[in-house]
Amino acid sequence: MKKKQNEEKTPALFPTAFKSIGQKGGASPLAFSYSKLSMYTECPLKYKFKYLDKIKEEPKSYFAFGNSIHKALEFLHAVSNPPFPSIEEVLESFKKQWGLKSWLEKGYKDPAKEETDFRKGVEMLKAYYAANKDSLKPPFLLEYSTDVEVDGLKVRIIADRIEYAGGGEVELIDYKTGKDVKRQPDQLYMYQKISELDPRLKEKIAERYGQKVSSVKIKQMLYYHVPTLKQYHFERAGDKEIGVFWDRVLGAAENIRGMKFEPNPGEFQCHFCDFKNLCPVHADSSRPPASSAVLPAHQKKQPSALGGQTDGGEVPRGSAAKVEALVDRYGHLKEEMDKLNAQLDEVARELGGMHTGEGKKELSGEKYSLELSRGENWKFGDREAVIGVLNEFDLYQKALGLTLPKIVAMLSDPAVPEAAKNKLKRHGARSTRLEINLKKKIES
Ligand code: SF4
Repeated sequence: MKKKQNEEKTPALFPTAFKSIGQKGGASPLAFSYSKLSMYTECPLKYKFKYLDKIKEEPKSYFAFGNSIHKALEFLHAVSNPPFPSIEEVLESFKKQWGLKSWLEKGYKDPAKEETDFRKGVEMLKAYYAANKDSLKPPFLLEYSTDVEVDGLKVRIIADRIEYAGGGEVELIDYKTGKDVKRQPDQLYMYQKISELDPRLKEKIAERYGQKVSSVKIKQMLYYHVPTLKQYHFERAGDKEIGVFWDRVLGAAENIRGMKFEPNPGEFQCHFCDFKNLCPVHADSSRPPASSAVLPAHQKKQPSALGGQTDGGEVPRGSAAKVEALVDRYGHLKEEMDKLNAQLDEVARELGGMHTGEGKKELSGEKYSLELSRGENWKFGDREAVIGVLNEFDLYQKALGLTLPKIVAMLSDPAVPEAAKNKLKRHGARSTRLEINLKKKIES
């Protein structure tokens, strides 16, 4: 029931020969999950970066921490014939899991923060053990993962623990390790909908308890907040609630199939988004704001009778005549600058014709001297292909957001494999540009 970092893991304790039902004829179903719904709802473009472009996100320390705690709890509960492990054994399993990755790989900023979390995890597990050791019993299912095909979707859920309450009723338990526990209705609805449709659960009940049930029903769902040992119980949702939720799921799936990936910027989601450097919303914000003088006429707001409303909505102080004069002067200067730029380009082209070889060439006039040289220009037309190469060689982090200068810098970086450089070059177009370094001579 939690938002899993790695949804691809298989049930470790009670493995079964799961026969996927997504292999029937017809169009292949869209792989879906609560995490995917959650991300698409938050920002469709973020969904595309993560699930379609498959761009890796930065490791998150809270996922690493939560994952290690979950593994330790799984180790504690995974007993079909007691005795259960001692607290020392549980802590040993936590330590082992924790040590599989370095602090950097886990997403910590420094080793001290990793150490703090490790100690926090130890205390958390000790408290959990003390509170539960006398009531431990062999679970029905642990880390139960299933894919269910419904309405053209293949929906995956992974439940931390499932207990059987008899009569075809089950209780789903989800461990939470974050700061607080928020009711996540979509997660609850998704787990209820899919669990009750899952034919494997009926088979599991028959195998384990010898009961042939015609249907499985959720009795309740429980969020167990490990840091505080608080338990939050949620009753089964009504059919109407589930129906409204499911319409929303199908709507999101339809949009994904229709390749609708509009960005949905917001303070929260953008702040925590690893794809900001690729996002057009944030690329736009780094450009200078458009002024009224350079906006097309149809985008300009009309000046007010009180002296000129700017397109930004501010009313400048001063008379209407002064505003008009400033706007006209700005327009005039802009026109002059465009003419001068055109002349500058023309002169630069002529100068460039005087230096067609490699290296530097100095030219001198009466008042100025200049040095000509040729630098490299690269353009990459196929953005998707470039992302593919960076992912293939695990270089996305090196490019730090797919900016052109960083990709170009990789072409001369000795640490980048030649194969990656050659593949990148195949997607790029090289040209040269003239560089002019102008100096004014000191007048005698
Ligand atoms: S930066 Fe914001 S708008 Fe852009 S993809 Fe991320 S969440 Fe979406």
